[in-house]
Amino acid sequence: MALNKASLSYLLSSFLLFSAVTSAKADRLGLLLPTDNKAIFSSNPSSFYMYTDRNFEGVKSKPWQGGTYGFSRNQKRTSLGIVYTRLHEGVDIKPMRRDSAGNPLDDIRAIADGQVVYTQKDSRGSNYGQYMVVHHDWGNGPFFSLYAHLASISAVPGQRVRAGQPIAKMGYTGSGLNRERAHLHLELCLLMSDRFQNWYDIHYKTTNNHGIYSGINLLGIDIANLYVTHQANSSISVPGFLAKSGNSNTEPYYKVRVPKKSSKLEIVRRYPWLAKGGAKFGAKSWDITFARTGIPLAVEASSSSVQFPAVVWVKPSGTNHSYHTVSRISGTGSTAELTSSGSRFIQLITGAF
Ligand SMILES: [Zn+2]
Repeated sequence: MALNKASLSYLLSSFLLFSAVTSAKADRLGLLLPTDNKAIFSSNPSSFYMYTDRNFEGVKSKPWQGGTYGFSRNQKRTSLGIVYTRLHEGVDIKPMRRDSAGNPLDDIRAIADGQVVYTQKDSRGSNYGQYMVVHHDWGNGPFFSLYAHLASISAVPGQRVRAGQPIAKMGYTGSGLNRERAHLHLELCLLMSDRFQNWYDIHYKTTNNHGIYSGINLLGIDIANLYVTHQANSSISVPGFLAKSGNSNTEPYYKVRVPKKSSKLEIVRRYPWLAKGGAKFGAKSWDITFARTGIPLAVEASSSSVQFPAVVWVKPSGTNHSYHTVSRISGTGSTAELTSSGSRFIQLITGAF
């Protein structure tokens, strides 16, 4: 059998893709909750979540749902009803104990085995207030738990931590918080780019104090749903969880085609399980499928070419897609286009900047 250069490289890339997928060890997540508050597993999750202050059309309320993961904030009335346009990328966990002045006393513990990679001890250094990031290796790319609004941090960067090990104290540092609303904001994230600083310098005039561990570079997955899924099935992996259908936060919402500039996107090198559909002969672009949260779900080679990133599929909606995608795409029905913030987002996730 004669193999030309193109089919040889096709075979080679298929083999590499295959070996990347099969060599990944699937460690158990071993997830634990970060505080003594376990009500997420109860029939009354309202006691797990800290409320938000809502003022909608002149009516003030304190809905606990504002503390849940997902599109749970910033209501907007549309012709098709009320939609929630702001994405909360984590969960806000209520304190279990307070001192006589009302300060929270809860210990914050690592949610899984890992290594502390970042601490920000300046309460005014970020909207997160004092926060820290722990890296977890479960055999399918790096994941990062992020703990925000802390009163104090007791672990140091580089330190290895075990699941359940105290690493901080709950507080209410950061913007827009008061003592009554003290809580832990917890995220579990994918990292978008190792070259975040370069991208940041192009688009922002302010100083980035957080290196690659800026919240802008971390995409929070539906951690609440992951906890509940993991409780029922402790062998679930994060890719397995994301592949599960039937959840509006993890199902495909739009697909963006981007010019192919290298043999593999950085995000696919980091998360090989994103590669779907195998290699394609003569591929000219990548099709990246996103959940409405912006979490990438799949990257496929396409033989169609594009000059610039373009939305090639969107889940039909009667209301503007911008409401459901943190304004990354706009349009209605079954058409959509990238907004300027959506274009910047695609730049960061594809490394095209
Ligand atoms: Zn929060």
